[in-house]
Amino acid sequence: MVVKFFASLIRWFNSQQQSRRFDQFSYFLLVSLFSILVAAPAKAARLESWRFNASQNQLEITTDEGVQPKAQLVSDPTRLVIDLPGIVLGRPVINESMSGTVRSVRIGQFDRNTTRIVMELAPGYTLEPSQIKFRGITDRRWLIKLPTPQLASTSTPPIVVAPKVPTAPSRSAESEIAAIESVELNGSSNQLMIQASKPIRYTSRWDRSLALYRIEISPAQLSNSVKGPQLGSGGPISRVKLRQENSQTVAVLIQPATGVELGQVNQPSQRLVTLELQRARSLQSATTAAPRAMNVFNPAVATTQLPRSPNGRMVVIIDPGHGGPDPGAIGINGLQEKGIVLDIGNQVAVSLQRQGIQALLTRADDRDLDLDPRVQMAEQSNAAVFVSIHANSISLSRPDVNGLETYYYDSGRGLAQTIHQNVLQLTGVGDRGVRKARFYVLRKTSMPSVLVEVGFVTGRDDASRLSNPAYRTQMADAIARGILQYLQQAAGL
Ligand SMILES: [Zn+2]
Repeated sequence: MVVKFFASLIRWFNSQQQSRRFDQFSYFLLVSLFSILVAAPAKAARLESWRFNASQNQLEITTDEGVQPKAQLVSDPTRLVIDLPGIVLGRPVINESMSGTVRSVRIGQFDRNTTRIVMELAPGYTLEPSQIKFRGITDRRWLIKLPTPQLASTSTPPIVVAPKVPTAPSRSAESEIAAIESVELNGSSNQLMIQASKPIRYTSRWDRSLALYRIEISPAQLSNSVKGPQLGSGGPISRVKLRQENSQTVAVLIQPATGVELGQVNQPSQRLVTLELQRARSLQSATTAAPRAMNVFNPAVATTQLPRSPNGRMVVIIDPGHGGPDPGAIGINGLQEKGIVLDIGNQVAVSLQRQGIQALLTRADDRDLDLDPRVQMAEQSNAAVFVSIHANSISLSRPDVNGLETYYYDSGRGLAQTIHQNVLQLTGVGDRGVRKARFYVLRKTSMPSVLVEVGFVTGRDDASRLSNPAYRTQMADAIARGILQYLQQAAGL
């Protein structure tokens, strides 16, 4: 009777799994029942057959009653342990050696009600347990697909995997909770973006007691490194608080700036929640197009046909590549592209401002920024030119490859050549030419746009020079001079 109920429960569980509409409560209920049933002295089910396909890294098992396998990775030696609760082996231990990265499979009776399959990896190899795929053909037949074992860099601590519906909580609940990794304004400051490491859900409302807008995210925890957005004066938000409300819930509390209306909360992907920020019309013209404008002086480039901002000055977009969790290329001694290009980009912007150009940075700090907001910023600000700054890489085994490359698409050719020549002259970097390329930021921008690869972080010469702040200043001055020269030529001066 218990067995029959158990079997129908498993069937129900599988149908729920297939429909993927499996709420947490049912899950907990099921787990509780499951534990009780497994503990009960039910008729033992048997492992009928097993087969390991080494070329596909796939284990196939068949049992005569439903089973829910569980896996864990154990170290020294590294082995994947798969337990089959409620299954009796009913025969002596099986031990098979193999030649691949899985070098043996052993199957034995772990305890009275559990059959254990141990797959030992070749020395030095490990695998990512979260990538193990459990596929129930039926509740009695499972395909367990392992990721390709990789050579381990360090020893891997034991990790328990719950082979369940991915969204369901499990006993390893901590590792299932999303970390809130960043809360930031996007490039054009019309969205607040809340990024998590795993799928999240949200609710939102005005919190009357705090007079703040509240977005609650769950299941989630604030990561140690998360910071609130950078809020400048004139921005759309005057205050953001991040709070861990309880073990599962993070609250993001927002006070909009005067004249800013909060729009819809959206979830463009499972790990991203966004809040629209809309400026009331009367305040729009003054600041909207220039969220990070750093401007002084009058334009040096006087009479021209080049586009200008509403305040009459020419706008140049400087776009340091990558940022935040995306380091870009990583080179000799861990030299990171994102830091180099940010420093150079900031200095280019400052140089241009001294010449009366309204230089806008797509990012002025170490933040994550998609390609599209970079393009949008250029389009919305009516920029005269767009200059993206990157550093190149090839391979740490090719320190001999060094040099400057400047890319353009379409109308950016003259700008590319002018910047390229200036950088060659002023820095002495090697010349790898001006090239045409279909990079996103070049194709999607309507003004002349270029992408400067200032050197190779994997190159012996370039890496040591790019590590030097004085060289980066030289590089920035050269790029700024190239931009100014191009603008003056284009203006017929
Ligand atoms: Zn890059």
